[in-house]
Amino acid sequence: MGNYIGGRAVVLGGSIAGMLAARVLSDAYENVVIVDRDELSDVRDPRRGVPQGRHAHGLLARGQEILEELFPGFLAGLVDDGIPVGDLCGDVRWSFNGYRIKAAPTGLRLVGIARPVLEHHVRQRVEAIPNVSFREGHDVVGLVAEGGVVRAARVQRRQPGAEAEQIDADLVVDATGRGSRAPAWLESMGYPRVPEDRVKVGLAYTSRKYRWHTDPLRGDMSINPVATPKHPRGAFLHTLGGDLGLLSLTGTLGDHPPTDPAGMLAFAKSLPVPDIYDAIRDAEPLSDPVMFQFPASQRRRYERMERFPEGFLVLGDAVCSFNPVYGQGMAVAALQALVLAEHLSAGRAPNPLKYFGDIKSVVDVPWEIAAGGDLAFPGVAGKRTLKVRMSNAFMARLQVAATHDPGLSEAFLRVAGLVDPPQALMKPAMVLRVLRTPRTPALDSAPSSLERLR
Ligand SMILES: Cc1cc2nc3c(=O)[nH]c(=O)nc-3n(C[C@H](O)[C@H](O)[C@H](O)COP(=O)(O)OP(=O)(O)OC[C@H]3O[C@@H](n4cnc5c(N)ncnc54)[C@H](O)[C@@H]3O)c2cc1C
Repeated sequence: MGNYIGGRAVVLGGSIAGMLAARVLSDAYENVVIVDRDELSDVRDPRRGVPQGRHAHGLLARGQEILEELFPGFLAGLVDDGIPVGDLCGDVRWSFNGYRIKAAPTGLRLVGIARPVLEHHVRQRVEAIPNVSFREGHDVVGLVAEGGVVRAARVQRRQPGAEAEQIDADLVVDATGRGSRAPAWLESMGYPRVPEDRVKVGLAYTSRKYRWHTDPLRGDMSINPVATPKHPRGAFLHTLGGDLGLLSLTGTLGDHPPTDPAGMLAFAKSLPVPDIYDAIRDAEPLSDPVMFQFPASQRRRYERMERFPEGFLVLGDAVCSFNPVYGQGMAVAALQALVLAEHLSAGRAPNPLKYFGDIKSVVDVPWEIAAGGDLAFPGVAGKRTLKVRMSNAFMARLQVAATHDPGLSEAFLRVAGLVDPPQALMKPAMVLRVLRTPRTPALDSAPSSLERLR
């Protein structure tokens, strides 16, 4: 390229959001340095800085489209590596309240991949970009600012006695995830506290890897009995290829799936479909059960700040960390990377407040889906506007109608996959289709009966 708008950009955090940011920054800055506290090279297993990596992750359809756009041939690379790929609806057993929605091919892909392996594939592509380098094993300890401009990041090697050093930068992008220290750094520079929205869900995932003796998926990619207000316990059981699978049990509002094997089995048995219990009762566990607690969805409203330092941006979970059962975090990080690319394409350093205004636009819909959806659970505190109540009632009705109508399954997954806007479900023809179908779930789609027929 050669037409750079700056010398160096530093990205704090080398997980999915940080690497996608680095990918787009590499078109605009002479060199891009990614700093992470973990050692990253060749890591394909869960690591300390990303503890959620032990739990089931799905990449939403829109996220896959963007990865393909940023790294052409990305999906083909996964297939070459033996990663199973299927159809998000046709090859997945989605169920709500014990009833499976009709499966039909949608053309939306799903990859059966563990989170650390996905990260590894993204990292391979980022490592291949000549002007991107990684500073691994370094803690980010702060920013250096002068006169309202961030000029450098302060980092410190993770070894006893190491001294903090400074990496000068024309732009610093914080992608250190949910625990980002950006709000505290800003306060220490004299800015007001960034406003934050929180929706307490008291969620926990308990996960374990298995080897199947008899494959419970039988060609499907995943079995997902999704938590609903009526049945707040849920699960995601994903293939990891061959005879390997990963199960995450989910429990909300303090009803956490236990981490002892017997308790985990009992929790699986209490789910509204038998598939999960049947899958694991005779399977060979390959890891100890491990829990991740997620107290609340959290959204930092940087767009509401009246002033913000130049030379500093925030992206990924550091901006918004969604209830993970909606599977949105990585796709929304990818959407945010596109916002960053758009701002860089103007040929000058992004204006932070304009950037955050556009970040708001891409976070609004997934936040509405997740935070609004959580308000369907009576124990979740928050304001239930008429729009939220109507939307939750409609979605519940749609999930029943989708047990009869595969077209509705597809429409639902296109919206949940962030490919289509929620308004796509509200078109008169769609609403009629939902209202015309019987109010009772199709019995032939109940996983129990369906599976016995197979
Ligand atoms: C249980 C669970 C399940 C999830 N399931 C899904 C799913 O199905 N689909 C989906 O899209 N998303 C899911 N998510 C969200 C997803 O994990 C994140 O959105 C995704 O990892 C992108 O986050 P990120 O890159 O912004 O931050 P993170 O992945 O949290 O990474 C932050 C990075 O910053 C580094 N770091 C942090 N602080 C410092 C520091 N001070 N110095 C140096 N380095 C630092 C860390 O080492 C890490 O590499 C789930 C989350 C949880 C908790």
